[in-house]
Amino acid sequence: MPIIVANGINEPLLAESAVETGVADFIGMARASLADPALPQKAAEGRFDEINYCIRCLQGCEGGILKGGPIRCMVNPTLGRESQFPQTKAAQKKKVLVIGAGPGGMEAAVAAARRGHEVTLWEKADHVGGEFIPAMFPPAKGEYAQMITFLRKQLAILNVTVVLNKQATVDEIRTFGADKVIIATGGQPNRPNIPGIETNKVIFARDVLTGKDIPEGQIVIIGGGEVGTETAAYLADCARGQVTIIEMSNHLGHGLMREFPTMRFFREQGVQSMLNAKVNAISADYVEVTINEEKKRVTANAVILAAGYHPNNQLLKELQKAKVPFVAVGDVNKCTNALDATQEGFEAGYNA
Ligand code: SF4
Repeated sequence: MPIIVANGINEPLLAESAVETGVADFIGMARASLADPALPQKAAEGRFDEINYCIRCLQGCEGGILKGGPIRCMVNPTLGRESQFPQTKAAQKKKVLVIGAGPGGMEAAVAAARRGHEVTLWEKADHVGGEFIPAMFPPAKGEYAQMITFLRKQLAILNVTVVLNKQATVDEIRTFGADKVIIATGGQPNRPNIPGIETNKVIFARDVLTGKDIPEGQIVIIGGGEVGTETAAYLADCARGQVTIIEMSNHLGHGLMREFPTMRFFREQGVQSMLNAKVNAISADYVEVTINEEKKRVTANAVILAAGYHPNNQLLKELQKAKVPFVAVGDVNKCTNALDATQEGFEAGYNA
């Protein structure tokens, strides 16, 4: 009986070894093919670092099905609408400036360069990747790194000029003299107006995930959406301490694609949660919350903020005021998700 093995096998060499060792007769590679239909040819030619690997985010494919809409793909913005975006050069070569090297900005730069434009990418940090960098660290999310690795490789192949540690200003943008400016400065984490939040034991989730801050002991996470639950999973996985998530709504993990395994992991690891809970104040030793009109104290040696994002749109406003034309993509318009940011980035770059 022939055996076909499938589900999350994205690496051609892994697939080949499974066949060679007799584990399987065939390998089914579905999501890998959505992410990069040219995967078999690239693998046959040994161009492994040019494969656009599926990162197993489930946001565009399974997420699309669950919403009753078309399938999309985080790493392949043209999936299902290839005929709308033929791989042709633009009629006129332009000088394109992209500001912000998160996934949306990188997609914009790559798409514009593929159309034959001269592209420069400015990034204020000393690295590319934006919010995808902290997103790589929670359990089972390491493959997110492959998207940034792929886009970095494409930027190099396409001769995009990448300038790091570059804080863009209106004057510098004017002086640069681009034909097209694409703003992809993303979002930044909210800091809710809670009494006591100014204490130095309050830290942002992304600083925890990137190792800048390492909390221990009794840890309270404010916000039980995707970022809050993934940060809790990361801390539980590292055995960093006892984690309690405080969430305003009646549901933990809103926006999380792997909700069921995450909740099972929480049960196994003893991660606590409080739903329908409002944070009143943060003090030296505890967080005070109200649940069902009853006040409670949760012991806290560290407090992590995962209370959503707001657009990082200061530059955008200054450009509007100075009447400098631009196109804005992703979270700088409205903080939604990386899938929308990459699709908008691609379309802005393609249509530059
Ligand atoms: S949306 Fe995510 S999981 Fe689905 S095929 Fe694309 S990269 Fe893979």
